[in-house]
Amino acid sequence: MPCNVLKCQDPPSEQFIYSEEPQKEAVLCERHHRLIQDGAEWRFDLDSGRIIMGDDLLGTHMYVVSPRPMSVEWSVADPPGTRRLNLEVRRLGSDTSERLTLALSDEAAAALKDMIEGP
Ligand SMILES: [Zn+2]
Repeated sequence: MPCNVLKCQDPPSEQFIYSEEPQKEAVLCERHHRLIQDGAEWRFDLDSGRIIMGDDLLGTHMYVVSPRPMSVEWSVADPPGTRRLNLEVRRLGSDTSERLTLALSDEAAAALKDMIEGP
């Protein structure tokens, strides 16, 4: 069995614990193990059972939310009765931040803001 990183065919040489509770291990080639040790982004994909890294992360459409800057503003007509929640997000696997605007009901906006900012 090759390295657990998606598309990698290199022989594994390192054990990697990707989940503590419950503990789950993967086997990685030397190169991918070193990249993860050096802080490269990765995520475990339940569908494929593989670890996803590099440009393949962009295709997972996962976004990391930065807690700041963020604002909640009333919106008069876009659509009516909603609040806009502006978030700074970064697509996993990308270095570039972008702005994501959600139109939410008042309750949903408040709940999401609490969830992101914490108590
Ligand atoms: Zn590998």
